[in-house]
This record gives sequence, C-alpha cells and structure tokens, in this order.
Amino acid sequence: MKIENDNGCGWLNQLPKRLNIKTLNEDHICDYLIVGAGYTGLSVARKLSEIDNKKNIILIDAQLAGEGGSSRNSGYLVDTTLNDGFTSNKDIENYKKKVKIYELGIKTVKKYIKEHQVDCDFNECGKYFASSKIEDEVIAKSFSNLLSKLGYKNKILDQKELQSRLGTSFYNIAVFTDGGILLNPGKLVRSMVDTLPDNVKLYENSQIYNWKKINNKIECFTKKHKITTKKIIFCTNGFLKYLNVKKNYSFPITLTASLTRKLTDKEFKEIGSPKEWGVLPIRPMGATIRMTKDRRILIRNTAELRNPFSMNRNELNKRAAIHKEGIKKRFKQLPDNIIESSWSRRLLQWIWNWSRNTIR
Ligand SMILES: Cc1cc2nc3c(=O)[nH]c(=O)nc-3n(C[C@H](O)[C@H](O)[C@H](O)COP(=O)(O)OP(=O)(O)OC[C@H]3O[C@@H](n4cnc5c(N)ncnc54)[C@H](O)[C@@H]3O)c2cc1C
Repeated sequence: MKIENDNGCGWLNQLPKRLNIKTLNEDHICDYLIVGAGYTGLSVARKLSEIDNKKNIILIDAQLAGEGGSSRNSGYLVDTTLNDGFTSNKDIENYKKKVKIYELGIKTVKKYIKEHQVDCDFNECGKYFASSKIEDEVIAKSFSNLLSKLGYKNKILDQKELQSRLGTSFYNIAVFTDGGILLNPGKLVRSMVDTLPDNVKLYENSQIYNWKKINNKIECFTKKHKITTKKIIFCTNGFLKYLNVKKNYSFPITLTASLTRKLTDKEFKEIGSPKEWGVLPIRPMGATIRMTKDRRILIRNTAELRNPFSMNRNELNKRAAIHKEGIKKRFKQLPDNIIESSWSRRLLQWIWNWSRNTIR
C-alpha cells in the first residue's frame, strides 16, 4: 500500500504551494515519534511540546503534512451530532460526555485561531440537520427534544423557512442549532503545519512501512531509513490497520466530495443570495452540503467500504456524477458543469461506533 499526494482536492488547490519540504534521508533517534501529520498528529505534536519543549519529537507523514483527510473534509466543526444514539438514559449520559469533548475541541481550535491570527474563513453560523422526507419529522422532533433537555438552543424549521435561508425548496424539515462552525479545512491545517513548535521535526513524503518493539525501544522503518524512539503515537486515521494496530477493532470507510466553481452573481441572485450555510443529514450517511463564503457548493453524498484504498480518475468521475445529481436535485436552475474538483479519502471507523450510528 502506497499513500500518495494528488491534486484533486478543491480546498488544497486554493492554497499556495509549500516550500521547505524535508523527507527522511538518514536514521534518527527521538523521544517521541508521531506517525501521521493530520489534525490528530499535528495536535499531539503541539501538546507534547507544550508539556516539555526539551523533548526530541519527530512527526512523519507518508504524503504532504495535512493533505490527507484533514484538508479533504467538509469543514464542519460541531458540538452536537444527530446519529450518536440517544434513546436510553445511559445513551444520553454518553451523549453528554461526547458533546463535552466536542466542545473542548471547538474551544481549543478557537484559542489556536486567535493566538495565531489564522485566516481560515471561520464562521459560527450554526448548522442544519435537514431532510427532504416528511417522515423524518419524527427524528427531527426527538432530536430537538433532546437538545432542549440538554439546554442547547434549537429550532425546527419547515420548508418555507428553509427555502428562504438555503435557497432551495428541496428540504421539508430541519433542526437548526447554534453550535456549528464552518471553515476552510485546508487553510486551518496548513496553518498548523506552518506553526509547529521548534522541537518538532517534520518529515514528509516518508511512509512508515513497519515497526517493532525491542525491549523498551521501538524501531520504525521507511523504505531506506530507521527511526528509533522511546514512544510512538499512531495518528494515521484510515490507514491504522496497515501498521498492524487495532486491526480487529477498526475498518476504513471511503468518502468522496466535490466542490463547485464560484456561482456567478446572476446564479447566486437566482437562488435568493443566501448567507453561508451548512446542512448535515438527518439520516446516517446521508448528504452533507454547504454553501461556502465564496459562493461555492460543497457536497458529500457517498460513503462506502471499498478496496483498493485510492480511487482512479474514472472511479472519482462516477462519484462526481452522484454529487452532480445531488446538487441538481437541490438547485435545478444551476448549469450541469459547475463541479470544479472531486476527491476521496479513507477514514477510520471503530466497529462499535459504526453499529451504533447506523442501525436504528
Ligand atoms: C469527504 C470528507 C468529509 C468530511 N467532513 C468532515 C467534517 O465536516 N467535519 C469533521 O470533523 N470531519 C470530517 N471528516 C473527517 C475528518 O476529515 C477526519 O476525521 C480528520 O481529517 C482526521 O484527521 P487525522 O489527523 O486523524 O487523519 P488524516 O488527516 O487523514 O491524517 C492521517 C495522516 O496519516 C498519514 N499516514 C497514514 N499511514 C501512514 C504511514 N504508514 N506512514 C506515515 N504516514 C502515514 C497520512 O498520509 C495522513 O496524512 C470528513 C472526511 C472526509 C473524507
């Protein structure tokens, strides 16, 4: 299995090319080795450095740092989620704990953005859990009750209200909640790469193929070199099992997304010039769709278990056709050929979460 860079992602294509990319070209010894430089690995590196800035930390990635799932997502930062299970009292206790973790994540991102003055199109505009199916009103109401019980402000919206806010009559029901942030994920993660602490050495385009524990040391191998470390932290997302870690507890799912070009003034006016918005699905694995600050539409409406892990252009085009159909259903008046980029990525799913979130 080889992880490679590609130029399909619309968020990444908006960024300047990186300079000063270092690959691993000799053996190293370190205190901590972090494998995978997405949001998880970059955050771990930052935290470890905060705890002890004398430690020798190596962060290594098979491709360019931050250019995996971390740049390729839909850019939602949310406090509450719908498909997390909340039908029993025990579920609700777990749900509350998860929301606290999500809130801490949001607080940490906000603090980071403020400290480093990051421009990542951060917009606290809330989020819509929406459906075109009238029968989903039952789920929407039950979720709204839960949110009210937990003290989260929310509102049920009907088709008319949704049309005026989103510019489409496609949705029949939605729960709107304040706790949702939209941002440009490529810009955020790029800034995290650019501001790594001094005691973190970053090596990119350097894949770890295997590792072994010898007494209290760990040896890790790229194709040509070795890193010897006291501690190792795996932050490889959907590639975890390829390094023989938690093989029986997780599996990868592949998501694909597309981003359109900017809508013209005329096209934007025709759909009612809506403010930036983000819709999440009421049903598990339904469509995520958002209108960006610069008037693009992002859509993710596929999720699949598949092998091999990367998609060729032909396969991506087939998913892009599904995205096009999704956009067309919502915005009939827009032309057919407005998708500018499409991409895919593997994500880690824990077996326990998967069954809880998808079986209702
Ligand atoms: C289309 C799509 C939409 C999404 N939408 C959202 C959203 O709106 N909100 C949200 O919160 N999440 C969303 N996600 C999920 C989110 O992107 C991931 O949860 C997040 O990127 C995980 O970050 P990470 O650092 O764990 O993984 P990644 O960013 O994937 O980083 C893992 C890194 O590990 C590296 N790696 C793997 N194996 C090796 C190896 N053997 N040696 C060296 N390096 C290795 C990879 O190259 C990669 O850079 C979405 C994902 C996708 C694909």
